Amino acid sequence: MSVDRRTQAQRLDAADPLAAFRDEFVIGEPDLVYLDGNSLGRLPRVTRDRLRAAVDEEWGVDLVRGWDRWIALAREAGEVLATGVLGADPGEVLLADSTSVNLYKLAVAACDARPGRRVIVTDDDNFPTDRYVLEGVAAARDLTLRVIRSDLDTGVSIAAVREALDDDVALVSLSHVAYRSGAIADVDAITRAVHDAGALMLWDLCHSAGAVPVPLRSAGVDLAVGCTYKHLNAGPGAPAFLYVRSDLQAELRQPIWGWFGQRDQFAMGPAYDPAPSMDRFLVGTPPVLGGYAALCGATLSASAGIDRIFAKSTALGDFAIELFDEWLAPHGFALASPRSGRGAHVTLHHHGAWQISQALREASVIPDYRTPDRLRLGLAPLYTRFADVYEGLDRLRTIMEAESWRRFSANRSRVT
Ligand SMILES: *Cc1c(COP(=O)(O)O)cnc(C)c1O
Repeated sequence: MSVDRRTQAQRLDAADPLAAFRDEFVIGEPDLVYLDGNSLGRLPRVTRDRLRAAVDEEWGVDLVRGWDRWIALAREAGEVLATGVLGADPGEVLLADSTSVNLYKLAVAACDARPGRRVIVTDDDNFPTDRYVLEGVAAARDLTLRVIRSDLDTGVSIAAVREALDDDVALVSLSHVAYRSGAIADVDAITRAVHDAGALMLWDLCHSAGAVPVPLRSAGVDLAVGCTYKHLNAGPGAPAFLYVRSDLQAELRQPIWGWFGQRDQFAMGPAYDPAPSMDRFLVGTPPVLGGYAALCGATLSASAGIDRIFAKSTALGDFAIELFDEWLAPHGFALASPRSGRGAHVTLHHHGAWQISQALREASVIPDYRTPDRLRLGLAPLYTRFADVYEGLDRLRTIMEAESWRRFSANRSRVT
C-alpha cells in the first residue's frame, strides 16, 4: 500500500499547476520536510535579491534620499494585497505595524464609531493576541468582552454569533481561519448578522492571507487585519496589513495619532489632522526592509492566484487526511480539523502530541505543536509538494510504529 501512496503523491505533483513555484523559494535543507509555513513562510529568491539590493544600493548609497521611494511602500504593497490577495479595492489596504497593533487601532476606532454600545464580541478559540488586545480595549473603556464558546475542531458557528448579538454590541472580532483547527468561518453569513445588529465586523486574516480567498468586497466586511510572514512569506517581523472599507475611512479615527497619519505630513503642523484617506490608519516610520519583503511575497502569491492556491491547499489537506485515516488513526490520532472547509493546515489530536512533535523534529520534519494536545501540519501550497506530505506522514508513521516518541520528555520546555 505504501508504494501506491508514494506513486499517488508523485502523480499529484506531476499534475499540480503550481508545482513550479517551489523553485521560486530558497530550499536550504533538501531533506527537511517543512510543515510550518503557516508560522513562518519560506524565503522567496526574489525577496532575498530585493533585500540585498535594498541594503547595498538604497540604504548603502541613497541614504536618506531613499525615502523618496520608501514613503510609498505601505500603499504600494497595500495595493497588491488588496487587488491580488484579499479581494478588496485599491486604497482599502495598507501595510503597517503588527497585526496586534492594527487590531488595537481598528478595535478602538470601531468602538468609538458606535458610542453608547457597551459590548465587544469575540470567541474563546480566537488567537491569544486577539483575545488579549480586545480584553485590554474593553478594560480601558469599561466595556464588556462577550466571549462566545467555539468548538476547537470545527470553529466559530453562525448560531453562536447570532446568540451573542444584541443592540448593545459595538464590535465583533473573529478569525477567518482558526489558527488551531484551520476551520474557515462563514464570512458572508457572520458579517451580515453583525450588520443586522448594527455592529461593526473586524476579521483577522492571518491564516487566510495568501492561502484562502477572502470575500471582503462581496461580504461588505468593515475592517480586517492580518500578517505577512505566514502564507505571504515576508519573513520574520515583516509588517502586517490593515483593511478599512472605503466608505468608512473618513468616519473612523484610530487612537495612535502619529505623523504618518497626518493630512500634510511634512508641513509639520501644530495639531493632528488625520488624512482623509486610508493613510490616517498609519502611525510612524515603517520598516522598509520588511515592507519590501511583504511586497515581494504578496506579488508572488498574487501571480500564483489565490483560487489556485486554495485549490492546491485543499488537495494537499485531503491527501494528508487520507494518509491520516490509513496510517495514523490506528495509532490513537484523531482529526482535529474539518474534513472540508479548511485553510492550509491540518491538525491532529494525540495525547502525546508534544513528544511526537519533538520526535518529528529529530526526523527532520517540522510541524507545530499547539495546546492542549495537537500536532498542526502546515501545508503551504506554494512550495509544499504532495511528496512532502507523503514523506512527513511516513516518518510520523515510523515514529508511531517504533514508539520512539516515548523517549522524549512530556515536559514542555519550549513552545514556538
Ligand atoms: C499569527 C497570528 C497573529 C500574530 O500577531 P502579531 O501581532 O504578528 O504577533 C495574530 N492573529 C492571528 C489569528 C494569528 O494567526
